[in-house]
Amino acid sequence: MMAADKTVALDSPVLDWPVISILAIIHAGALAALLPGAFSWPAIGVAIFLHWLTGGVGITLGYHRLITHRSFEIPKWVEYALLFCGVLACQKPLEWVAKHRMHHEHADAAGDPYDRHGSFWWTHLGWVLHRLPCDRDIPRYTKDITRDPVYQFFNRSILLWQVALAGLLFALGGWPFVVWGIFVRLVAVYHCTWFVNSAAHRWCYRSHETVDRSTNCWWVALLTYGEGLHNNHHAFPSSARQGLRRWKVDMTWWLVAGPRSHGSRMEDQASALQACSRRAEDVSALGHA
Ligand SMILES: [Zn+2]
Ligand SMILES: [Zn+2]
Repeated sequence: MMAADKTVALDSPVLDWPVISILAIIHAGALAALLPGAFSWPAIGVAIFLHWLTGGVGITLGYHRLITHRSFEIPKWVEYALLFCGVLACQKPLEWVAKHRMHHEHADAAGDPYDRHGSFWWTHLGWVLHRLPCDRDIPRYTKDITRDPVYQFFNRSILLWQVALAGLLFALGGWPFVVWGIFVRLVAVYHCTWFVNSAAHRWCYRSHETVDRSTNCWWVALLTYGEGLHNNHHAFPSSARQGLRRWKVDMTWWLVAGPRSHGSRMEDQASALQACSRRAEDVSALGHA
């Protein structure tokens, strides 16, 4: 996620102490929300807005449905704007995209970076805290973006942008804005995202007989703007829409469908399902192209 460039080939996972240290600091910082004087309703509003902007628009819409799966088309400058929102979630784009493509190619099997003996601990957090043998394959899975200088720049500077955002929030609202808008918000975005790999591969129900253990998990979907409908996603990975029925809340799809009148090629439900016929192999093909 946030580690330095990983060029050393490994035979087995090893603890990634820089990432562990940064995550420990972020979680400890979130505890400051319990201190007297840290609470304010505007600060909570900032945290909720930034959770949506960075976790929903940046990670879910940008990193996942656009950049990883190319499930819809959009002007390049909008792609870079979505990329920037994801960078503000303090997650490296190249590593994120590569590991998610590996996940689809080897879901719940050997070669899936999110899965190690099926343990909840590993699927939720363990894979984040380790350097993995598959790290050496990140360039191979991101051939469509890895030479883009904008991606390279943002991939190297995620902490810088987080510090800049913290400075802006401090100027606007003092320490309560920093505690809630940076630390509490980042902890919430991280764990909500990780629940897609842990809870939505373990609990709730399945609508499609996919080869993996993915599930549709309503509470993860609410926390992740639609991503918890993960069994639908594994069944139809190239669909920009994951809530395939009207009552399945997929807030990110609402964002995709919204600008249809502005000329972007967005699928309606019928064409989305048609596009869904492409399977997980197509996902890895994006990286191998
Ligand atoms: Zn999955
Ligand atoms: Zn995916």
